[in-house]
Amino acid sequence: MTTVSLTRREGLLGPAYRHFYEEPVEFVRGEGVHLYDAAGEEYLDAYNNVPCVGHCHPRVVAAIAEQAARLNTHTRYFAAPILDYAERLLASLGGGLGHVMFTCSGSEANDLALRIARFHTGAAGVVVTANAYHGVTSAVAEISPSLGPSVAPGPRVRTIAAPVPGGGDDPEAEGRRMAAELEAAIAELEEAGHGFAAFVADSILSSDGIVPGPAGFLAPVAATVRAHGGLYVADEVQSGFARTGEEMWGYQRHGLEPDLVTMGKPMGNGIPVAAAAVRPELLEEFGRRVRYFNTFGGNSVSIAAATAVLDVIEEEGLREHVRAVGTRLLDRLAALEGHRPLRNVRGVGLYLSADIVAEDGDPAALAARVVNGLRERRVLIGATGPRADMLKIRPPLVFADAAADRLLAALDEVLEEVA
Ligand code: PMP
Repeated sequence: MTTVSLTRREGLLGPAYRHFYEEPVEFVRGEGVHLYDAAGEEYLDAYNNVPCVGHCHPRVVAAIAEQAARLNTHTRYFAAPILDYAERLLASLGGGLGHVMFTCSGSEANDLALRIARFHTGAAGVVVTANAYHGVTSAVAEISPSLGPSVAPGPRVRTIAAPVPGGGDDPEAEGRRMAAELEAAIAELEEAGHGFAAFVADSILSSDGIVPGPAGFLAPVAATVRAHGGLYVADEVQSGFARTGEEMWGYQRHGLEPDLVTMGKPMGNGIPVAAAAVRPELLEEFGRRVRYFNTFGGNSVSIAAATAVLDVIEEEGLREHVRAVGTRLLDRLAALEGHRPLRNVRGVGLYLSADIVAEDGDPAALAARVVNGLRERRVLIGATGPRADMLKIRPPLVFADAAADRLLAALDEVLEEVA
């Protein structure tokens, strides 16, 4: 029941935009874990991580409205709220991360991290995972092989294979394999004269197929990065802000102490705010020689939204909630495996996935049928992975057991239908 035609949309926005679902959906309102179309139909959102504390959370809405009505300006003026926020954020990150620089998007945060890493090391080479996604600027599109063959990885970029999702349970074996591939990639970069600046990885390897564990497999990789004088950039755009339920940040599950941490998406519950947190020593020379100003990055309204998000995560105990609900959901999802085309159920907190297998057909097409079948039942999830044959279940953090019941009942029906 959409009032927007595909032709009109394409005519105005051009052909590069994609949309979800065979029958596209148009929402006019959101609340908590629900979205509503123009006819008032309620959809269960089991997909969107940006509205992490729930669509239109009243606390965040009030903070935005109050700040917008009073003052909205930029980081060239002194303001206490941005410093109060930076203090809280850095305390949660721990390690040696002592500065935070604000941007408007995860792409900009990664772009800035690359600039700092290259400036500090004097090297240009970057290593990422084979199906990584780190954003849309020219520099980060170069380190985003998941954009496909039309977006060439830069000559200064090498990739290593991520662990097979759900493949093994020996973190040391996976870590050693990745570390060995990393050694080879670094050698190639050095041979080509680029040197090695940084390894960048999404701490839950979302676009590589959602690889929550075994927790710890990234530790040997980080050790290899250090041994070669490079910097470890943890991209927390997906895994940050309590998504995994175990820790506030995905890299903390792996016992890492990154040199740079980037974040975005859920940070402002929908208001564009993102950041790069940095070890102070990396910014000494950069700060002296490079001027940084990002017009909208860290503006008063975005900081008000980000502050309210942290308040809600803490006051509503969302990390603990995510751990409890996520564990139950994972167990119940695993119970659907078997005669149905669902395999390799995995996840941590409220980031879950499963492979869809099609014995004699096309797994991606079958995964699309599952996703569209759920959409018909007004339950929203996505498909992901290098071959788009994996389900992506990543709801707002406030997703509760009743929502999980609805998701599982609908999934059960759809799997029966497509089997
Ligand atoms: N890194 C990761 C891991 C992401 O998933 C994304 C967005 N999907 C980005 C970076 C880019 O963030 P943005 O879209 O805010 O630029």
